[in-house]
Amino acid sequence: MSLTTASIPLLGFAAYSGTGKTTLLEKLLPKLNEMGLKVAVIKHAHHNFDIDQEGKDSYRLRKAGASQMLISSRFRNALITETPDEETTCQQLINKLDQTELDLILIEGFKQLPYTKIELHRDEVGKPWIFPEDNNIIAIASDSKAESDLPQMDINDTDVITAFIVEYVKQHQHKQQSDLSANCDELSPAFLSVSQGRAKILEAITPLNSQSNVSLVESINALAAQDILSPINVPQHNNSAMDGYVICGDDLERDSYTVVAEIMAGHSYDLPLQHGEAAKIMTGAPVPKNGNTVIMREQATQKDNQVRFDAGKSGIRKGQNVRLAGEDLAIDQTCVTKGSRITTPEVGMLASLGIASIPVFNKIKVAIFSTGDEVQAPGETQKANSIYDSNRFTLTALLQKIGCEVIDFGIIEDSEAALESTLSQASQQADMILSSGGVSVGDADYIKTILDKLGNINFWRINMRPGRPLAFGHIGDTPFFGLPGNPVAVMVAFLQFVEPALRKLQGEDNWQPETFTAIAKEFIRSRTGRTEYSRGIYSINQNGQMEVVTTGKQGSGILRSMSEANCLIEVQPEVESVDIGQKVTIIPLNSRV
Ligand code: AMP
Ligand code: MG
Repeated sequence: MSLTTASIPLLGFAAYSGTGKTTLLEKLLPKLNEMGLKVAVIKHAHHNFDIDQEGKDSYRLRKAGASQMLISSRFRNALITETPDEETTCQQLINKLDQTELDLILIEGFKQLPYTKIELHRDEVGKPWIFPEDNNIIAIASDSKAESDLPQMDINDTDVITAFIVEYVKQHQHKQQSDLSANCDELSPAFLSVSQGRAKILEAITPLNSQSNVSLVESINALAAQDILSPINVPQHNNSAMDGYVICGDDLERDSYTVVAEIMAGHSYDLPLQHGEAAKIMTGAPVPKNGNTVIMREQATQKDNQVRFDAGKSGIRKGQNVRLAGEDLAIDQTCVTKGSRITTPEVGMLASLGIASIPVFNKIKVAIFSTGDEVQAPGETQKANSIYDSNRFTLTALLQKIGCEVIDFGIIEDSEAALESTLSQASQQADMILSSGGVSVGDADYIKTILDKLGNINFWRINMRPGRPLAFGHIGDTPFFGLPGNPVAVMVAFLQFVEPALRKLQGEDNWQPETFTAIAKEFIRSRTGRTEYSRGIYSINQNGQMEVVTTGKQGSGILRSMSEANCLIEVQPEVESVDIGQKVTIIPLNSRV
């Protein structure tokens, strides 16, 4: 989430109307002031409201056309800004506050935004709890008990709530001092946003830079380790783009020409062409000296050794139908730049230059393994309560797709010794290590203990779905990703975090996944506070616009959804749901999975 407050903590209240939000705030504010806190409130009103009154000077001037009306007296001032085109965002409102004069910003409304909140609840309102749906809620104030590990307070005990808020502000100030706040999503301090996670990962990755000379075929899918310059002109000579007749460009005015030669591709006519002469020429054959204009065969009539052109004199343009030497690539022109990937056109182009081998960055070796006692290798007879390991196979395919070498360590039994020896072996042999499973909260703790012991690993919760738990760090010098266990989460986390890291490790600069905007053709349910990736199918409609639907059920274990999808639909944290006809961001998968 991109809402940032610079230095001031934000806190909001999540409640259904009728819970008494404003009444509570009215009681809290004097107490917070008493505790020495200077507090701003941002309130969202759903309806057209008006703050100043008909007949007042400020009202008259605004109605007369002042788009911003600033009124001031000895005790207060107010800026009234008309926003006829677009509602001001919460971030813009925060930016309008004078933060140097504040300790805390309280927000009433904007409940879909992922900032830290206290849930307010009264049984008599008859509404469900909000905290199960909003992971930005850090505490509950209620007149009944909720089934939750969150701190709970009596909604009528304003002293306790005040103390909680004061403590929250203190913690924020303390955290700022230790500069931890830069590590987290400002609004959901326990979480990282997708872009924050990716930025931290990329920061920690250094390209490997080792290179070797390989044959063209071996270079397919690798990255060029140097700029590659053309050793020759392509085409080598000026040549004909048509089957036809070549004449001199300053000799277009004749009724007929004498045919002096027939030049086939791969051959040449070595005499200079004279005025009055033409040579029959095939596509790709070099034009003779002075010959720089070709008339296509279909527009010519040859009788014996005389040729006439149907187009007539005025229909012929000097230089037509001739390809110039070096037109595609001139000698010493860069044809492949350092760090670019050798794909089908590049390998063809390099071959066309007569190049047989090129320097490429060495293939990245990636060690992969799966964890979990319930996980079984395909081919075995299925045991009770087990599932087949799909993650190693999807990871292998994804890795091969971007030209990595896979070292498969198989399924690691749930034991400390096995995990420890696998990790240390993998860190010796590989340039990167990927594991799946075992990093979510509640998983066998020893995985984390061992990772902590062998390396320097962060256990993150990313504000996204699927793929929230993610471990990242280094074992020795080797980057390590602990991916979630769920098969779809593994793929999404790979695409969002591992692939960018691998590409940087390989030597590709500033790679960004391609995104497009498409029109939603169905309602897409989301949840605020995190980036949601639904599997989608995009297509182009009759009007040439890109449209997208989901693949249906979106469970993070449903691999079929990935198979049916040709894109991920990315719904940002602040968006609660996407209506039919609204625009969404899609991430095409065609070339990536
Ligand atoms: P975990 O993150 O270990 O709690 O795993 C989450 C879910 O993913 C569980 O239902 C696991 O059974 C499943 N899972 C874990 N590893 C794999 C794997 N290699 N292949 C398929 N499913 C897996
Ligand atoms: Mg597990």
